Amino acid sequence: MPTFPFGMGGEVHILSGLCSYNDLGDIMTKAKYASFLFICFITLLFLIEKAHVHLTFQELPLLQKVIYIDAGHGGRDPGTSYGNLLEKDLNLEIAQVLQEELTKKGAIVYMTREDDTDYSEAKDYKKKRGDLTRRIQMIEKENTDLYLSIHINWYKESYWKGAEVLYSNTNSNNKILGDAIMKRFIKDLKSTRHLTPTDLYMYNHTTVPGVLIECGFLSNPSERTLLQSKDYQKKLSMSITNGIIDYLRQCDEGTCSGNNDTGSAHTSIQLPPYRSLRID
Ligand SMILES: [Zn+2]
Repeated sequence: MPTFPFGMGGEVHILSGLCSYNDLGDIMTKAKYASFLFICFITLLFLIEKAHVHLTFQELPLLQKVIYIDAGHGGRDPGTSYGNLLEKDLNLEIAQVLQEELTKKGAIVYMTREDDTDYSEAKDYKKKRGDLTRRIQMIEKENTDLYLSIHINWYKESYWKGAEVLYSNTNSNNKILGDAIMKRFIKDLKSTRHLTPTDLYMYNHTTVPGVLIECGFLSNPSERTLLQSKDYQKKLSMSITNGIIDYLRQCDEGTCSGNNDTGSAHTSIQLPPYRSLRID
């Protein structure tokens, strides 16, 4: 018969005396201890999750950003050259190193070309225009946040050197992006060049924010050597990547048009259809 004492030192006999008052005290203490451990465990999980999210943004600042890299020239169009050294080949090499750097930071990277090709077609009256138009259409097709067109410079006087950025005024974000990358070139690569406007066809007809990057001068002997070196290609790519991170930080702070949504800053420029190439 169970009894329920309320005095000191008494015993409670529950379920035919299976559990004593002292046992109940132990159970309560254990229950409190288990609750305490459980709360600690949940708190720890929360902190780990928070730290992980924090680390993710620290380590992957370009997470889910869609970036198009356009390796200039290709196929029938070698670009500039020095002996057997062709701009189109160097552009592709640098574009691939850049692709790796951007991917490491979390970006989704597309390439307009991954081999020695161009996009002109037999029907194109102007082959170069056909190639560029199809590159623009590729860039515009994805939900692209920004694009980078990779080229190498040349000038008849060989002392000119330095990486530089060119931008079109068709999109107000272009200048902000170009300025961020150019500042990195000046700081990281000691470039003495500066941000320059351009009205070249491709950049004037691309609505997505983006810039033309001239990685250096093939006509300059020391820069020609550097541009072929994997170490320098990586250094250049890291500089571009950091410039993009700087640009996106400015967008997050509301400096860019379209605020946080870099993609929404696209203007409504109409792309010329293929057939209009014949009358250009
Ligand atoms: Zn070029």
